[in-house]
Amino acid sequence: MKKLFLVLYLIPFLLWPAGKMVKAENPLRVEVLPRVVRQGDVFMVKASGPASFGSIHGEFRGKRFPLSAGANKGTYESLVGIDLDAKPAKYEMKVLAKGEEGKVYSKALSLKVEKTDFPVQKLTLPRSMVDLDPKTLERVNRESKKLKALFEGVQTETLWRGAFLRPVEGELSGAFGVRRIINGQTKSPHSGIDLRADEGTPVVACNGGRIALVDEFFFSGKSVILDHGGGLYSMYFHLSEIGVSEGDRVHTGDLLGRVGSTGRSTGPHLHWGMIIRGARVDPLSFLRLTKHLQD
Ligand SMILES: [Zn+2]
Repeated sequence: MKKLFLVLYLIPFLLWPAGKMVKAENPLRVEVLPRVVRQGDVFMVKASGPASFGSIHGEFRGKRFPLSAGANKGTYESLVGIDLDAKPAKYEMKVLAKGEEGKVYSKALSLKVEKTDFPVQKLTLPRSMVDLDPKTLERVNRESKKLKALFEGVQTETLWRGAFLRPVEGELSGAFGVRRIINGQTKSPHSGIDLRADEGTPVVACNGGRIALVDEFFFSGKSVILDHGGGLYSMYFHLSEIGVSEGDRVHTGDLLGRVGSTGRSTGPHLHWGMIIRGARVDPLSFLRLTKHLQD
């Protein structure tokens, strides 16, 4: 016992000089905001060094993400999302930077993802409303492939800046992440939020970007998808009218279209979705995270 105590007592002294030496050599600092993240959340990774780095990127859950230059010299940041289906666990987040002299620095930190209690909605509907005929099923599959290809496409430069905006002022009528069980069968969870508003209410861009898709889909009706760069996309579904074309550059608050009830919808509302490098995240968590940012 006495021996163990002596060893424990000595550990800080043994480690301290080595720890200090490593710190002095590695100029890379990394922090995550907020410290506690949950399934379906977006968070901010901030990195800095005393001088600017030649290149810098992060790695999280097997995916690489870019960090872009922050407001001050030598600062870098990126948004990272936790998919609503990601397992609550501790994950390693890594940032790698190359100094201008070519030396590579890396910093890893552990990030705890907590469970979100998504509501469960059980519905019983006539089979004719749930089962799709072969032709419709083929259409739905084609459309979901098109979306998948879009979200996995080449990441462009970051086009968003400042705080994200609610695209319509409307009451929340469908929460994010609701697990839907229809006729006893588990369906895909609700991957956005529904905002109830009158037909024709203007729908605006939640931030700057380029129009990546304008189309009419079986489930989402008249749809607009905005590419904010860096793998971040916002989606606006069930529109009655669309006022933009693919390739258009838009800024925060620009008119995209009008609220409607096209596609599979029970009344006029906007379905607003956000996806970041494949992770389906709660749009409201973008509003919370970025509200303090200046344009
Ligand atoms: Zn919805």
